[in-house]
Amino acid sequence: PNLFGDSRKNSRGWDLAHKPELVAIDKARNPHLSATFVSKPLISGVLEKSKLLPVLNPSDPTDTVGTVQQATAADVATALSAATPWKADASERAEILCRVADLYEENFGKLFALLSREAGKIQLDVVGELREAVDFLRFYAAESLKQNASSAGLFTCISPWNFPLAIFTGQISAALAAGNGVLAKPAEQTPLIAVAAVALFHEAGVPRKVLQLLPGDGPTVGAALTSDPRISGVAFTGSTETAQIIRRAMAANMEPSATLIAETGGLNAMIVDSTALPEQAVQSIVESAFQSAGQRCSALRCLYVQEDIAPHFTKMLFGAMDELAIGNPWEHATDVGPVIDAEAKADIDAYVSKARAEGRVMKELKSPVEGFFVAPVAIHVNSIAEMEREIFGPVLHITTFKSHEIDDVVAAINATGYGLTFGLHTRIDDRVQHIVERLHAGNIYVNRNQIGAVVGSQPFGGEGLSGTGPKAGGPHYLPRFCKSKTKEVTE
Ligand code: GLU
Repeated sequence: PNLFGDSRKNSRGWDLAHKPELVAIDKARNPHLSATFVSKPLISGVLEKSKLLPVLNPSDPTDTVGTVQQATAADVATALSAATPWKADASERAEILCRVADLYEENFGKLFALLSREAGKIQLDVVGELREAVDFLRFYAAESLKQNASSAGLFTCISPWNFPLAIFTGQISAALAAGNGVLAKPAEQTPLIAVAAVALFHEAGVPRKVLQLLPGDGPTVGAALTSDPRISGVAFTGSTETAQIIRRAMAANMEPSATLIAETGGLNAMIVDSTALPEQAVQSIVESAFQSAGQRCSALRCLYVQEDIAPHFTKMLFGAMDELAIGNPWEHATDVGPVIDAEAKADIDAYVSKARAEGRVMKELKSPVEGFFVAPVAIHVNSIAEMEREIFGPVLHITTFKSHEIDDVVAAINATGYGLTFGLHTRIDDRVQHIVERLHAGNIYVNRNQIGAVVGSQPFGGEGLSGTGPKAGGPHYLPRFCKSKTKEVTE
């Protein structure tokens, strides 16, 4: 049976509350629990020899998930000279991309295992990510036919480790659906899942010269692929600083028409006023701040609670935090898995230690000692203005406001310059309209959580420092990978 659905609907995924589905998941992924995976550049041409790096499991660094052979400068040059746009008919391209979606479904056990072992994802996140990847493939295939999308260029796709399958697949499938050739650089932390995914694109019929994979570091691979005049566009998801470096490199080296599609960071806020339904708001906050260990650019970073309800409300919130199970993402019951690597853990731990020393920690959980775990924590701030940067982990900042200060709160949120997601819990309809009109954010969620945008129905992407737009999973994304030609013939 097709667990995911068909191309006209979003995929169904699995119901993790349904025992037989859990048994099916275990059966499919468990054989990959102890396997060792290998990643190497998938290019059209001869690979240079280069050293192998180990890829560690973030929840258990004694588990070497596999090895990655890093692409060298010569490999990048080989790939660039072999690269070609995808000359197949639009309908053939769309058909092949839908076949990739089918192959993702058929191979979900391996992809599931890698998302847990290489990226440290809990089951809920794995299911969400597999669904999103499959949805992107089918959505852009369908959109390319609807929009008559065409191009004949080469795109560089640089993807992040926090959605090593979904965002990776989304960028590539949009570029391919429009007829571009692709040179993909996966995040350094997650090359194994990338190689597994690209192998399925090739198996489905995407030519090897059309889609090439170059695992490696930024200075060797990223810099070359964002400064080569043969490249017609770059799709990038990652930090705002890196997006700015890429933009400068493109401007200096590529044609002026070269496109940059960047999805970057956020300093996302939520406002909870005294009319909010506390149970609903608490659940939304716990999910938005701590699911995926806070490693989503959409995650809630700064919560504004109306002062009148704050003591009672934060007590409820901290009670809910106490229920979170932190540990091995492989286990069905785990709510919060590890952060991605030792460096991420050290950075977040240092930030939390400083807040602790300043007496600003309001609530802190405990995490396992082994592995790259960071315990969910709530930290007091006076305003979002005090937050200098995005802390990419399970760290929630909390502050309060008085009812008459609501416009100042909106102004402070806007003043960060970011504009990705925003959450609002209120039962006052006029307030919803008032705030939505004024707040700068790409994705605004009312009376629900603020993560987990769904392909096709909640196009995702920000403004300001959060990205160039257009939104992924929406109708305006694909045209950015296309060229349009006007043709008029007179007799
Ligand atoms: N699309 C994801 C969401 O809505 C976030 C993507 C990201 O973190 O880059 O939660």
